[in-house]
Amino acid sequence: MINERPRHFASDNYSGICPEAWEALASANEGHVASYGDDHWTERASNMIREVFEADCEVFFVFNGTAANSLSLASLCQSYHSILCHQTAHVETDECGAPEFFSNGTKMLLLSGADGKIDPSAIEPMVKRRLDIHYPKPKVLSVTQATEVGTVYTPSELGVLGEIAKRLGLRMHMDGARFANAVASLGVRPRQITWEAGVDVLCLGGTKNGAPVGDAVVFFNKELAFEFDYRCKQAGQLASKMRFLSAPWVGMLEGGAWLKRATHANSMAALLESKAEEIPGVRLLFPRQANSVFLELPKKVIEALHGRGWRFYSFIGEGGCRFMGTWDTRASDVEALAADLRDLMLAAD
Ligand SMILES: *Cc1c(COP(=O)(O)O)cnc(C)c1O
Repeated sequence: MINERPRHFASDNYSGICPEAWEALASANEGHVASYGDDHWTERASNMIREVFEADCEVFFVFNGTAANSLSLASLCQSYHSILCHQTAHVETDECGAPEFFSNGTKMLLLSGADGKIDPSAIEPMVKRRLDIHYPKPKVLSVTQATEVGTVYTPSELGVLGEIAKRLGLRMHMDGARFANAVASLGVRPRQITWEAGVDVLCLGGTKNGAPVGDAVVFFNKELAFEFDYRCKQAGQLASKMRFLSAPWVGMLEGGAWLKRATHANSMAALLESKAEEIPGVRLLFPRQANSVFLELPKKVIEALHGRGWRFYSFIGEGGCRFMGTWDTRASDVEALAADLRDLMLAAD
């Protein structure tokens, strides 16, 4: 029985396709329509994204987040420029150098800051560290919302970053692989944490939200979208049966499924957080604000949890473990995990 299959906590991309996206896909599978994005599903999905952001933005659909980030970053700068981002940013640590590759050599400049968020006071010193021709000229500020450690920037925090970027002549890019989780967590209008805060381009994640595949690139600054379609095509990111990338967006956005699903994912992480807090010896590594919980666990307990079949990442240093909630995580999954964790922590004492 499908409902009896275990849910894992490794990543929100372990989950399948949520019903709303699945139904839209099935509807899109009727008859022939024009290819390469010249179809009514793609038009409708683009218009719905414009409505969600209350903005006349340019929208493109690509296969994944790495492509969305690298191609959009490449369109914000020249090869001799540099991109400022947090040291834990996905664009720096998890994209195999794709942003540098697609921008033909752009350099990433790494900023620090607590809880995965860029410290605003770190930006200007990095930009002004050198003003001579030998330094790759800073051109873009890239932020991740929600961040890699499951925290979220508030509208005012983003506003501060946007102001600094504007004053220093930097364009602003947002990696929104988990943008829906951030909106659900903050309870804000999407515009408040994007273009109103100065974001020029957003990579809007669909996959982790419940779509089968595909992220959207949303240019609020339309001039920067100039010839972006060619960039996508050259990079192998122009889907010929585009309707299967765009239709899931129609399903997710219609009736607000994207936020409903993200709210659920966040609440499952919140449930795990509350259960974990009751277990002696378990330490929360970052404030839980979206759909991930980071726990510091003894090595023995990590191994024993893996031994009991739980999948989760333990990639942050020694003993740091990430548990993700997703759209189909059930409270019973969280309770079973928490019960095993409690057992093993008590045994390890
Ligand atoms: C998952 C993720 C991406 C996109 O990764 P792909 O595997 O290329 O789809 C981008 N940024 C962040 C923060 C992510 O978590």
